[in-house]
Amino acid sequence: MRTQQVMKRHIYSPTKQITNTVLLILVLLSQILSVSSASDQYARSFIQNVSDNMSIQALSPYKNKDGLEYWPLCTSKNNQPRNVSGTNPHQGTDLTINVGELIYPIYDGEIVYMDTDISSQTGYILVRSDIGIGEYAYIEYMHIVPISGLSVGQYVYTSIPIATIDDYLRYDSHLHIGRVNETRDIHFQIYDLFADCVNWTNGSDLDVFSYPSYNEETAEFSIYAYISSDTENPEFYGGYGRFRLKYITLFYSVNGNAWQHTDIADCDPNYKYTFNIQEKTNAVKGDTIEYYITGTRDNESSYDTSFNDASYTVAYYPAYYSHPDAVLSGEKADAIALTIKISK
Ligand SMILES: [Zn+2]
Repeated sequence: MRTQQVMKRHIYSPTKQITNTVLLILVLLSQILSVSSASDQYARSFIQNVSDNMSIQALSPYKNKDGLEYWPLCTSKNNQPRNVSGTNPHQGTDLTINVGELIYPIYDGEIVYMDTDISSQTGYILVRSDIGIGEYAYIEYMHIVPISGLSVGQYVYTSIPIATIDDYLRYDSHLHIGRVNETRDIHFQIYDLFADCVNWTNGSDLDVFSYPSYNEETAEFSIYAYISSDTENPEFYGGYGRFRLKYITLFYSVNGNAWQHTDIADCDPNYKYTFNIQEKTNAVKGDTIEYYITGTRDNESSYDTSFNDASYTVAYYPAYYSHPDAVLSGEKADAIALTIKISK
């Protein structure tokens, strides 16, 4: 946000003029610095709008040795707070796949951008696909070695590999995959690309938050939320690194009144949080609830140890900002809030 400078006219005085000029420069410098750090943190980095009519099911980017689709372990979801350098929350999804394994496009499409420089393990392919939703889907594949001979403009198909997983240089071997916008600076949720995929728990292994639903009759709200970590979890789910959040928090404003919040820790074994949003907010028939939700990752967990002592712990639904504080200002909240009207 910019503040307007209001310049007042003064009677001319050379000394005062110089002092004022120095002050003005200092003020402008401090504004530039604060604006740039604030706009980095609150720059838009995510889009989270659920596509109900995603008619073309994506395929896994990995197949097993028999050529059958295989769903690798996710070690870091899209929108997941993490304890490493790089974007935080994570802008994209990491799937653990061994060095040299083949990567397939999840949709047929056209390569529209490539980076074949693998000196920093940042080989990259961007594929643009028409998946019948009225806009192109752009899928990015990173930490890969593009198959030699591929080039921008070429069509690729889900049955033919486009890359192999790169050797370890800076990161463990994995595929970073994401759905991005054309300019690659905003990440969409991707769970809904795999909505029919049971083996990937309907895609919810891929985003911190997935499958929100609201029942107008009962005012029951539900959403899935959990963490996928590279820490193994031998206590649960056959060693898969899925972990409960410490809690989720419902932030709400009824009829435009002040923002309030309440924590919800209980979820079912599939990490589905269900609550009556009318009771949580004391809203009555005809009220309008604005809301957003945060999920707080446990940075003191005895299970999910790779996140211990992490300083940034929150994920947002809807995901929007690059690296927002744990509580938003009213203005920042209003910009991302979703709306529910209580009709019963
Ligand atoms: Zn990644």
